[in-house]
Amino acid sequence: MTAAPQPRTDVPAIQVRALHKYFGKNEVLKGIDFNVDQAEVVCVIGPSGSGKSTLLRCVNRLEEPTSGEILVEGIDICDPEVDLDGVRSRIGMVFQQFNLFPHLNVMKNLTLAQRTVKGRSKDEAVEIARRNLDKVGLAGKESAYPAHLSGGQQQRVAIARALSMDPDMMLFDECTSALDPELVGDVLAVMKDLASEGMTMMVVTHEMGFAREVGNKVVFMDGGVVVEEGLPDAVLGEPQHERTKAFLSKVL
Ligand code: ADP
Ligand code: MG
Repeated sequence: MTAAPQPRTDVPAIQVRALHKYFGKNEVLKGIDFNVDQAEVVCVIGPSGSGKSTLLRCVNRLEEPTSGEILVEGIDICDPEVDLDGVRSRIGMVFQQFNLFPHLNVMKNLTLAQRTVKGRSKDEAVEIARRNLDKVGLAGKESAYPAHLSGGQQQRVAIARALSMDPDMMLFDECTSALDPELVGDVLAVMKDLASEGMTMMVVTHEMGFAREVGNKVVFMDGGVVVEEGLPDAVLGEPQHERTKAFLSKVL
């Protein structure tokens, strides 16, 4: 038996080639190509139903690609022999709905997977959890239950939980879309900090200000294809395609 391929730092963090995804007869991704470089922040924008979530979910194989290639740190994640748990353990994901365990307090939310998946001791898991709670501005909330936190606090707990697994990259799927407007800023601030620390991030978002300020690249999707991608100022400020212009005229 050959050893499993090791993650590489000398290649893009994520490489997507000719990715197609069907749900039944519905072709939702129609040949997607793009890279996310290491330490790059790529913001994916586009109308509802354009395939953004499906694309993100293919990157850690929550969805099974129909065809095409996805390399994560150089590892082909569609290879039947791939160590999928290993790959997934290096990818943190934060969803629109916070997906915290409602019956566990904040500390237990942050330590559970550290204990079961990473095999960390309780003391180590607690220390790492504390560090990450502090990082998202929630030191002192260890014993709170999710229902007693605001949506913005819950989402920051979800980010702290993902960070506690030491991911090499983070995927965010409209993680501020369910929040009251006044709570969005705190979550975006945490994401901005992460970006400035060099975290590789793929961010599906409707927050054009964030995309412009924090993104290194913006990818505009519509109808299952990448219509346009480039520097945020270029894509958002001087879009080249009619579809991009039409979308931006509605959201900006
Ligand atoms: P977006 O995130 O851009 O709104 P999605 O990736 O969620 O788009 O959805 C793209 C298309 O795929 C939509 O038409 C949606 O109905 C369809 N779709 C998404 N998930 C499933 C699924 N599990 N089964 C069938 N169709 C799906
Ligand atoms: Mg979506």
